[in-house]
Amino acid sequence: MPLSYEDLLARARSGTEKDAKKSGALRLELPEPDVIWVGNKTIFRNYAEFPKLIRRDSTRVLMYLAKELATAASIDGERAIFIGRKDRDSFSQLLQRYVKDGVLCPVCGSPDTHLDRDKRMWFMVCEACGARSIAKVA
Ligand SMILES: [Zn+2]
Repeated sequence: MPLSYEDLLARARSGTEKDAKKSGALRLELPEPDVIWVGNKTIFRNYAEFPKLIRRDSTRVLMYLAKELATAASIDGERAIFIGRKDRDSFSQLLQRYVKDGVLCPVCGSPDTHLDRDKRMWFMVCEACGARSIAKVA
């Protein structure tokens, strides 16, 4: 179920208040990735929260992470499983970059955007200001 803009704002405010007014990735407060290692696998236990929060397709976000980490990954319920030992900071940084390049409107900074495919390109359409921008990640 998609979150409303008010829900996203409430979540952002429940984080650190001082960052709320800054532009960029901080506008949308991401939870800390909850990561554990089992054997040679990395279990990202709260993975499902992220695509839900940013209103993006779970598989698509997973494919982005797997590609950037140069490994294979799969979804297991709320969790994502990556081959190899990946640290929490790598997930944090990649998710923040994903938000910056493919979620936040570059015009007004709103996280309330959706993707629209036009021939070979993905666009971010902002529901707050109506701007249509090329999504660097999709
Ligand atoms: Zn906008």
